[in-house]
Amino acid sequence: MYTCAGCSCLCDDIEIVTEKDDVKTVYNACRRGAGIFLNYRLSRTEPKVDGKIADFEQAIEKAQDIIQNSENLAIYGLDTTTLEVQELAIKLAEKKEAYIDDNSTFCLGDFVEMILKGELPSTTLEEVKDNAYVIAYWGSDAYHSLSRHMSRYTYYPRGGKRQRGYEEDRFLVVIDVRKTHTAKLAKKNARFLQIRDDLELIEAFNQALDGKAPSIFVNDIPRILKEMEKADFNVIFGGLGLKYGLKGKYEAFKNLIARLNERTGVYFIPAGCHPNMRGFNELMFDKTGEINRYSFNEQRSSDEFAFYRLLENDAIDTAVIIGTDPLNSLPFEYAKKLAKINTIVIDPRETFTGRFARVVLPSAIAGVETGGTMVRSDGVRVELKPLFEKEINDEAILSRLLEVV
Ligand code: SF4
Repeated sequence: MYTCAGCSCLCDDIEIVTEKDDVKTVYNACRRGAGIFLNYRLSRTEPKVDGKIADFEQAIEKAQDIIQNSENLAIYGLDTTTLEVQELAIKLAEKKEAYIDDNSTFCLGDFVEMILKGELPSTTLEEVKDNAYVIAYWGSDAYHSLSRHMSRYTYYPRGGKRQRGYEEDRFLVVIDVRKTHTAKLAKKNARFLQIRDDLELIEAFNQALDGKAPSIFVNDIPRILKEMEKADFNVIFGGLGLKYGLKGKYEAFKNLIARLNERTGVYFIPAGCHPNMRGFNELMFDKTGEINRYSFNEQRSSDEFAFYRLLENDAIDTAVIIGTDPLNSLPFEYAKKLAKINTIVIDPRETFTGRFARVVLPSAIAGVETGGTMVRSDGVRVELKPLFEKEINDEAILSRLLEVV
């Protein structure tokens, strides 16, 4: 069995048929997961210096040189690589007194932080499979972003106390601004709440908890509360829709979860898609008490140290980008700035950022050509076993870069 590092489900039941170094068949994975294994040889990058193909030694020496001479370095990305690599990257940032940040700044890092600080009660996906009755997806289209989430752990599987399946033993709630594919699954024993404003929904839940008629979803909210009270184990999966819908007013959400827990058991798990984002957040939290946007020079985290803000403020002369493609995803004004500084890209595949980088260092695909450990969205550590072993991987590259600091 292999582990797919395609998303934060980190499915560890993947079966693969190979022939020499070719992947012939992949069992159990979703379409995205299967594609990672089947297409692992496509769009691979080569070592490059200033846009020209170089040999690996030339490229790594150039990267060492740039890092050695950098005065304001930032390391960014890291969520598709292993804990072992993230540790080395944090060490590099610490030794260079650099900035370090990952995608959790845009993604669900805030929720991970609340869990790590004990401000939101959380649980594991195995516990959900065995015990959860009401399963709520709030601002998350799991059907697309975490394709096997519902079938492996939440709504569909039978397990533990939930042997009668989703037809009788689970109650699905989907909360979103539009009728997503996940929402379309909410039929019998289910509710879909099409909302305009997440804070308005929180207020309506609070009204119902106060014994008043809620201002919206007059019939649905009392029913959902009644269903939650039927069991002592319910779970809310929060996605990006919830994060941005709360507009930073996290206290309102935390208070609602606390109030629900006065009546019954309600847990929270982030429903995000980067495979090892939580791993990075946990390592940073253990080391610094913060989860991202960190300056080892100033020994603190701040919005100002978010990678895009560093670019915006011309605060860095060098960026080491590991396993992500910011030029492809950042707004144009930040992307333009990134193209002007020294950029070192470490990635198995060709990326848009790689085209403008001073140095490109090709690496191995985690879970296909290199092993290690990742942390699932619920905090459970999962081992990755390589299908084929590639000598040059993120760990080997980061170790070489550390030699010069
Ligand atoms: S759900 Fe995620 S981890 Fe599981 S097979 Fe699909 S991409 Fe891979």
